[in-house]
Amino acid sequence: MSTENETEINELGEFGLIDVLTNNFPLINESSIEGVGDDAAIIQHVEGTTVVSTDMYVEGVHFDFMYTPLLHLGYKCITGSISDIYAMNARPEQVLVSIALTSKFTVETIKEIYKGMETACLNYGVDLVGGDTTTSKAGMVISVTVLGSAYQEDLVLRSGAKVNDVLVVTGDLGAAYLGLQILEREKRVYLAEPNMQPELKQFEYLLKRQLRPEARKDIYEGFRALDIHPTAMIDISDGLSSEILHLCKKSNVGCELLEANIPLDPITYNTAIGLGIDPTLCALSGGEDYELLFTIHPSDAEKIKNHPDFTIIGFMTEPENKAILVTKSGNRYPLQAQGWKHF
Ligand code: ADP
Ligand code: MG
Repeated sequence: MSTENETEINELGEFGLIDVLTNNFPLINESSIEGVGDDAAIIQHVEGTTVVSTDMYVEGVHFDFMYTPLLHLGYKCITGSISDIYAMNARPEQVLVSIALTSKFTVETIKEIYKGMETACLNYGVDLVGGDTTTSKAGMVISVTVLGSAYQEDLVLRSGAKVNDVLVVTGDLGAAYLGLQILEREKRVYLAEPNMQPELKQFEYLLKRQLRPEARKDIYEGFRALDIHPTAMIDISDGLSSEILHLCKKSNVGCELLEANIPLDPITYNTAIGLGIDPTLCALSGGEDYELLFTIHPSDAEKIKNHPDFTIIGFMTEPENKAILVTKSGNRYPLQAQGWKHF
């Protein structure tokens, strides 16, 4: 990755690198008392409860430098991580980013990734307050820890869904999975025929969903504006099936998921058909949509009716009924978790 104009990490040293990476991050939250530069950050959350979550992104497992723009990688590490905090109905306020690097990466490469992180932090009002930098024997690993805050009574767990609650999902599903399929296909074409120029314009939406996903801050704010308090919630990182099964298990309820209601963007639907993949399967078993899946009391259903960001996709049932997919033709199948198989 190193060219003549690029700087090797050991020219700067670890502390020089940390300085270069972190000097552009302002502290914007009142709760961030002390950020990068001391032995530990100091945080004072005013809303009472601190919510914390961590995620790892491993080169070759979660991202591939053949088709991942550096800016997008940084952006996605932040948005993918703070999505978990929104899924608790809490506000993300601080992140800590740890990165393990081999000497093949230049300072410019890492800076570009951090630039993407900086954009995400600005867009979501989150402060980078610390992290760790170390060497790796093979490939890059990025770990992101997020701190958020909420009043305890506002927190929404996976365990609160009740029988007859309405199951709702935000946005549309399956696009990120198809974006990955397109990128993997182009990678194979490129490896076989390096002079071929990929034609990706028509897949822009799918690629954006895969490479530069957003977290649903707007939904977190929407709940407040619409006076909705979900009974249970989870973010969709592993596919709809797997997340529904988590809600059912934690809440001890069953579920009827109506295939006909699952929101798919037309480009998702058409691309899936073109690739010979069942579009519904992209939503059920694809991953990385970072949409929110939640349940609400039936009396709250009126508040989200006809709202463009929300789709009612089913309802919760007695636990004995298990989680069932009701297909468009009326057949009933037990939901199965495919999820991402990293192992
Ligand atoms: P220590 O030796 O005490 O772990 P470091 O030298 O690793 O301290 O870190 C110095 C400061 O820089 C700390 O505030 C730490 O949180 C921050 N830091 C280190 N690496 C990163 C990174 N990759 N991203 C953001 N902040 C970092
Ligand atoms: Mg350290």
